[in-house]
Amino acid sequence: MAEVIVDDGFSAAVEIDCLIIGGGAAGLTAALAAAEDGASVLIAEREKQLSGSTALSSGLIPAAETRAQKRQNINDNKKAFFEDIMGKNNNSADPKHVNNCVENINLALDWLEEKHGIQFHVLEDFLYPNHTSFRMHAVPEVTGEGLINYLEKAAAGLDIYISCNLQIINLVRSNSGKILGAVGKRPDGKIENISAQNTILACNGYGGNPTLISENIPEMKDAIYFGHTGNQGEAVIWGRQLDAKIGHLSGYQGHGSVAHPHGVLVTWALMMEGGIQINKKGVRFSNEHKGYSEQAVNVLSQPEKIAFNIFDERLCELGRKFDDFRKAENAGALVKGLTVKELATNIGVNETSLSETMLNIDALAEQNARDSFGREFNIKSRLKPPYYAVRVTGALFHTQGGLLVDKYARVIQESGSIIQGLYACGGAACGVSGPDVSGYLSGNGLLTAISLGYVAGKSIKRIE
Ligand SMILES: Cc1cc2nc3c(=O)[nH]c(=O)nc-3n(C[C@H](O)[C@H](O)[C@H](O)COP(=O)(O)OP(=O)(O)OC[C@H]3O[C@@H](n4cnc5c(N)ncnc54)[C@H](O)[C@@H]3O)c2cc1C
Repeated sequence: MAEVIVDDGFSAAVEIDCLIIGGGAAGLTAALAAAEDGASVLIAEREKQLSGSTALSSGLIPAAETRAQKRQNINDNKKAFFEDIMGKNNNSADPKHVNNCVENINLALDWLEEKHGIQFHVLEDFLYPNHTSFRMHAVPEVTGEGLINYLEKAAAGLDIYISCNLQIINLVRSNSGKILGAVGKRPDGKIENISAQNTILACNGYGGNPTLISENIPEMKDAIYFGHTGNQGEAVIWGRQLDAKIGHLSGYQGHGSVAHPHGVLVTWALMMEGGIQINKKGVRFSNEHKGYSEQAVNVLSQPEKIAFNIFDERLCELGRKFDDFRKAENAGALVKGLTVKELATNIGVNETSLSETMLNIDALAEQNARDSFGREFNIKSRLKPPYYAVRVTGALFHTQGGLLVDKYARVIQESGSIIQGLYACGGAACGVSGPDVSGYLSGNGLLTAISLGYVAGKSIKRIE
């Protein structure tokens, strides 16, 4: 078990200004920010290569008032972005913390463009649920893998040493409570001590730790975990031993649209632009526009824990703009039907019920009307034959609870004081989604990874 060791005489062969635990978006962003201010930086990454949940993600980062938005003539502002986040979490996240992320994410993205040559553009094909403006930024490939590759390339140009296959097992602190560094372990069992003036926790949350999931998010204990398995919750485990303030451990991002059994994400854009979800009985069961996160729970409560995404040719074209969707299509996850009847037969649902469902939404679309779940339909996004279906299930993507941090991303103790030399960012820190699955606004994950990574990295020299 990960431990915090007290050792005033801690000595190490490696001495560094800044140790970063974890090499995802948060860790790499923090490394770039710290190194360009002159700090020597070591990233310790437990896997044999950089990846994390970041590389598994769609790589979409929400931000307002960026250069990319201005280039695309998108009129957005931070106040609206802040309100969208707070509206989705039902005002349950700390507004100061949310504001810190909103205020820093555009600085971070502009800085990644200007200083590190990472080019962003904003997706304008559709609005993500509950965002009031187009603000999802992506690298040209529109993938998380692309994002990690660009960040890693940028790190290669600075005084940043990336040590893969190095799992940090223990933090080390002095008697007075300052963090002095950490102890790492190689796959062959070799132990390495690292002495660091500052340690940044960028090791994400505890999605890969079944014990912590059962304890904090029991409704997802049997669900597929779709994030990075190396995220074992050390930030929370060490934080508890350090008497750190920990918040919203029951918060998480779920997703109600993972192709099953193919295990590929099917973009929610389909739902936002006219698609629907039905269960095995051929009937709808929710307002798909509330958000894909809470939809994980709705889908998992359907018969056999599955649903079908129903859409048409127009939406298929939209889906094909996304790497994951193309993967799902190539894996054979899409089922086609020239008519509703044929589709019902092909996916094995009751034809009469599905026909009724389709007639119902068609009538709503024709009248630009709202259904009994509260979803608005409109004529422009009416579904037309031929139809498509993908069988999906609900999954856990990543946890949202974690260590509470101040405006410099320093870890706060229960007493209210700061733990000297310790920072947290990304999924290691408490997020901006509150304590419930429904509080997750699209992009809250990379928002805290990149904004808090930037803040933590910049704080190293600022605070010295
Ligand atoms: C399928 C999917 C799609 C997603 N799409 C989006 C999206 O489009 N937009 C969005 O905002 N969010 C998205 N997310 C969430 C997003 O991926 C995460 O919020 C974000 O990547 C977190 O970044 P991070 O740097 O904190 O963690 P990670 O990227 O997971 O990096 C943490 C790293 O720490 C390493 N590590 C852990 N423990 C140790 C240790 N003890 N020692 C050494 N190394 C350690 C891990 O191996 C890992 O590489 C998605 C998630 C999934 C699963």
